[in-house]
Amino acid sequence: MSTKTRQTKQKKAIFDVLEIEDTHLQADEVCRLVRKRVKNISLATIYRNLEAMTHKGVLHEVCVSGLPRWYEVKKYECHGHLFCKKCEQLFDVVDCGMCFAKNRMESKMNFCGEEVMFLVMGRCKECSEKIGEDNE
Ligand SMILES: [Zn+2]
Ligand SMILES: [Zn+2]
Repeated sequence: MSTKTRQTKQKKAIFDVLEIEDTHLQADEVCRLVRKRVKNISLATIYRNLEAMTHKGVLHEVCVSGLPRWYEVKKYECHGHLFCKKCEQLFDVVDCGMCFAKNRMESKMNFCGEEVMFLVMGRCKECSEKIGEDNE
């Protein structure tokens, strides 16, 4: 197999895994799943491809400082994330109020926006209900 064919195959496997899982995955999870399809693919190759695809706008990355990044297939133009600090789960939220804020900020500054990162940190419903139970 030529190098180019192999690279295309690796890239496709990474994209397919993210699309099939249909959620946010960290590089090590992507790696575990991709290895079922492409044997011996290195974590460095996974990282390189994830970064390249994010740069091209195929994938979207979510960064929470101090934690590995999550990657997802870019679906809707404007969607925000809620991050639960307790269970470290990430939730997608589509809210047109966000698009409204984006448009307003852009027109105020004559700015051409491409990427929106909206992240709210806190506790999810389940973890909030657990407060008290685990004596925190
Ligand atoms: Zn939680
Ligand atoms: Zn998302």
